[in-house]
This record gives sequence, structure tokens and C-alpha cells, in this order.
Amino acid sequence: MTETMTKSERLMELEDNYGAHNYHPIPVVLEKGEGAIVWDVEGKKYYDFLAAYSAVNQGHCHPRLVKVFTAQAQKLTLTSRAFYNSKLGEYEKYITEFFGYNKVLPMNGGVEGVETALKLARRWAYDVKGVKDNQAKVVFAKGNFHGRTLGAISASNDPDSYGRFGPLVSGYELVNYNDLKSLESAIKDPNTAAFIVEPIQGEAGVVVPDEGYLKGVRELCTKYNVLFIADEIQTGLCRTGKMLACDHENVRPDILILGKALSGGFMPVSAVLADDPIMLTIKPGEHGSTYGGNPLACAVAVEALQVLKDEKLAEHSYQMGIFFREEMTKLKNETDLITGVRGKGLFNAIVIKEKNGKTAWDVCLRFAEEGLLAKPTHGDIIRFAPPLVITKEQLVECIAIIRKVILSF
Ligand code: PLP
Repeated sequence: MTETMTKSERLMELEDNYGAHNYHPIPVVLEKGEGAIVWDVEGKKYYDFLAAYSAVNQGHCHPRLVKVFTAQAQKLTLTSRAFYNSKLGEYEKYITEFFGYNKVLPMNGGVEGVETALKLARRWAYDVKGVKDNQAKVVFAKGNFHGRTLGAISASNDPDSYGRFGPLVSGYELVNYNDLKSLESAIKDPNTAAFIVEPIQGEAGVVVPDEGYLKGVRELCTKYNVLFIADEIQTGLCRTGKMLACDHENVRPDILILGKALSGGFMPVSAVLADDPIMLTIKPGEHGSTYGGNPLACAVAVEALQVLKDEKLAEHSYQMGIFFREEMTKLKNETDLITGVRGKGLFNAIVIKEKNGKTAWDVCLRFAEEGLLAKPTHGDIIRFAPPLVITKEQLVECIAIIRKVILSF
């Protein structure tokens, strides 16, 4: 460290020296957030267009969540599931009624929710469907991202995700995303337990399937007695302009996985929802987590869901999304730097064509200079997913920043 370094530079150097190098962040060091805005340690203001990968849909440090979080933190935070606690049952009643399922299994991070759903599906295949032990197959869509555990990366077809971490988990099959024919030929196999899918593929670059795909998935899964698992960890909770992305096609998955915005950014909270014939196949001692269902998480999750409803964030996301894509499409027509615009609600992406050696990464660095934070995915795609509390006026300001930067290349 040298005397001439800025505070940001000192803090980035600390992360670089003492933290694992498993991320490549945009070089800004944030210390404060409110709604759709964050500030760095030098006091520079930015619009947050990533929203912690859609975990802060309710906006940074939502006052109602701060209140519930602090009150519960002063009372009781963790009991483990060795005992009952005063918040878990209330939360379970609330969230199952909210989404219309018999039961919930509470976990922490998103990928734990995915693992839970996969275990449930396999167990259901053995106990209910009658698949022979150790023969169950789970079908995934190519381009998926379900997290970073061995169970999740074993389903990935992205070598950055699974490469040189083998041997991988077996019993998986991959089909093309947005391709019902390929799905049908895979799930015809009577050993199939489940098909797990993101209603819109987030990490793949906000890949929106054709209308009717989710309905088709529902029909095929019903036809072949295969569980339809929706990973709504990123697409759920108003991000795409509906409470769930599956709501766009009025389909109900057999297993629903939620995470991220379930706590509005306060702590890792995930949930797996299903009906009794599936959920009750797992018996005491067969699955769990020390922090899963802790009273702090339960109190925050109820409030986080209630905020989404009270503030009508699904409707707002839907309307703002239409406006945003219109503006991005106009911009696309003015430059050859943007080759695609896509999304639903406030879950959008633009595809950037490399120009004079400049990539989506360089575009994001310029966004940051101008006070807007976004991050490329897969090299050429920039996802735009601000906190859903962003106002129309703020969005107009953000569009002006995006225009200015894009047209400067
Ligand atoms: N599933 C989807 C669709 C995701 O987008 C993510 C994270 O981005 C995960 C699962 C994993 O969630 P977590 O990072 O909380 O484990």
C-alpha cells in the first residue's frame, strides 16, 4: 500500500491480497445504499442496475425491512431446528398461502434451495413414482445456471462452471432450452424424476423463451408424471413484471424455488415450496440446515414479501420494463454497437458487438464513470436489473446515461 492510494484503491487491494480470486468485480467500492442508489467510499453516487443479481428488488436498505430486521435481531436470531421458534410457523403459513402450496422447506442460499428440490425430486421418484433405487434421472436445460455446488455445476454446459471440478454428479440429462420436442424425448424415459428450468435464463444473459414454452413444459411434465421444478431464484418476486415469471403463462410448477429477494438483500434466505405428496417424502433427519428457518430470516422474509405486494412492485416492474425496452430499442436503431434488446419487466439485457477492441466490459466501466453500475455476462451481454423501486424519473435519468455512454463508442 502506498500513501497516494485512494480509499477505494486500498480496499480493492485488500480484497485482492486476502480474498480468493473467484470474482472479477467492476472496480467500485460501495459503502451505502438507499432504494435504487448506492454510494462508494469516496461518496460518488451510482444507480444500481444489477440489484445484487435481483436480491434487492425492494431497494437497498428498505426502511420496513431495517425495522423488522433490527427488532428481531434484538430478540432472537437463531435456535436451530432442534427446537421450535416463534417465527417459523407464522412464516410457513404466510409463504405457503402467498404462493398456494401445502408446505415450504426453508433454506439459506439459492443453491441450497436447488439442492433441496433435486433431493425432493429424487425421493419422490423412488417413493411415489416407483423408480428403482439409484435410477432416477433429472433433466436440465442447456445454458442453465442453478448455482455453484457440485450438484448444480454437474448440470452446467458452461466449462467455466464445471470444468476441472469433476467427477460430477450423475443421473442428469441436458436438453435444449425453449425446445419442447427435445424435452419430450428426454422425459419419456420412465426413470425421469423431474425437469428443472429457469422461466427466463438469467445468467445465460436474460434469455426469454417463446411464449407458450412454460405451458408446454407444464403439459409434458403432467403427461409423463414428471415433476416440473421452476428455479425462480432470479426471475421470481416481481422481477419480470409478475410475482413469478411462471405467472406470465399461468402455470404452476410442482416445486417452486425462491431465494435472493426473499429477504430483500438482508441475508441469505431461500425456500422450496411443494405439496404434501412431494414434500412429505423427506422425513426427520433426512435433510436440513443449521440456519434454515431461523427466526431472523422468517421475520424478514414475511416483510420482504409484504413489501412487494404493498408497493405493487410487479405492476411497476411490468410498466417500467415496457418503457425501458422501448427506449433501448430506439437506441439500438441509432447504433451498431447494440445487436439485441430483450427482457421482461425490469429484467432486461442488451447484446454488445465488439467494436475497435472494446467489449461489454469497457461499456460497463464507462457506465460506472457516468454513475450507473451494471455487469457483463458471457462477455457480450449487459444485464439491466435495477431495484424495482426505481422511479420513472430515475429510470429516465439512467436511460440518458446509457444513451450517452453507448453513443460515445
Ligand atoms: N438459481 C438461479 C436461477 C440463480 O440465478 C442463482 C444465482 O444467481 C442461483 C440459483 C444460486 O443462488 P445463490 O447464489 O444464492 O446460491
